[in-house]
Amino acid sequence: MSRFWSAVVHGLTPYVPGEQPKLDNLVKLNTNEHPYGPSPRALEAIRAATSDGLRLYPDPNSDALKSALARRHGVQPQQIFVGNGSDEVLAHAFMALLKHERALWFPDITYSFYPVYCGLYGIAQRTIPLADDFSIRVEDYLPQGDERPGAIIFPNPNAPTGMPLALVDVERIVAGNPDVVVVVDEAYVDFGGESAITLIDRHPNLLVTHTFSKSRSLAGLRVGYAVGHVDLIEGLERVKDSFNSYPLDRLATAGAVASVADEAHFQDSCAKVIATREKLVASMQALGFEVLPSAANFIFARHPGRDGAELTAELRKRAIIVRHFKAARIDQFMRITIGTDEQCGILVDALRDIL
Ligand code: PMP
Repeated sequence: MSRFWSAVVHGLTPYVPGEQPKLDNLVKLNTNEHPYGPSPRALEAIRAATSDGLRLYPDPNSDALKSALARRHGVQPQQIFVGNGSDEVLAHAFMALLKHERALWFPDITYSFYPVYCGLYGIAQRTIPLADDFSIRVEDYLPQGDERPGAIIFPNPNAPTGMPLALVDVERIVAGNPDVVVVVDEAYVDFGGESAITLIDRHPNLLVTHTFSKSRSLAGLRVGYAVGHVDLIEGLERVKDSFNSYPLDRLATAGAVASVADEAHFQDSCAKVIATREKLVASMQALGFEVLPSAANFIFARHPGRDGAELTAELRKRAIIVRHFKAARIDQFMRITIGTDEQCGILVDALRDIL
């Protein structure tokens, strides 16, 4: 690492991506991708866009996508911010919090990028442990005496637990912090959670982020967005204009717009994943696993008699990849992405064999 970069860069931990194996025969259940492909209409639109205008810069305002998303969510296009995956959208929100005088609050056991962004941007953080049952406790996010958050962020459903927070509880956090931005990261909401987008009219401090990577099966396209009050969105647009004025390329825009237009594919493919999840949960419980209640396209499970890392390694030997986290409180768990019925069947057979 060059000594010419700042100490901040030296303090960063290199990103370790989820394993992306090349072999076809692997059962890959480690990075929460959708097992079924995106809308055929999205693929067709991307193909059409390759022959049409890549020579030209894309629309810096992504108007077509903002209009499509605004229609779908019943909001105004000025209430939508788009970016290259929700990671980039979240990065803009974090940048908008730069030099904030108070700390960003988020759960301890949550999406690992939040502390990473805090480190990169020098944002003070306060982590709040999950309850014993791994749920987010609303009371912990309400101002306590003099201690008040600068902003709050949590995923709903949470990651990697998969556990949802009821909409009434999300609203208690948002309403209890009227002077504070509350970011609800809904990367997995379409698999059974309740979206807080319906609360945006009543709460100008609420920002909700979504992604095309999970429920729309377009992780490779890198599209995400935020929905919120126009004032919040305007702030993100200012950050964007100072960072990269062309966030979405023409192929991503074309594919995303066509995906939003295909509501039937979206609903059907998510319903299939949910049905498979419920079957997998029942099979895992029959094998003695404790499975946290999931409203996501993955489950978080542990076995009372077997070590999580060891089970993960045993599955790997059988060409099945799941995710294990070496972190306090969760190192007995495996996070398992919901694949096809067939893939989940192979997983259950392998676990039966291992146990
Ligand atoms: N939020 C959460 C909670 C996630 O798990 C992920 C995916 N790893 C993201 C955001 C980012 O997803 P993407 O950048 O693909 O939209």
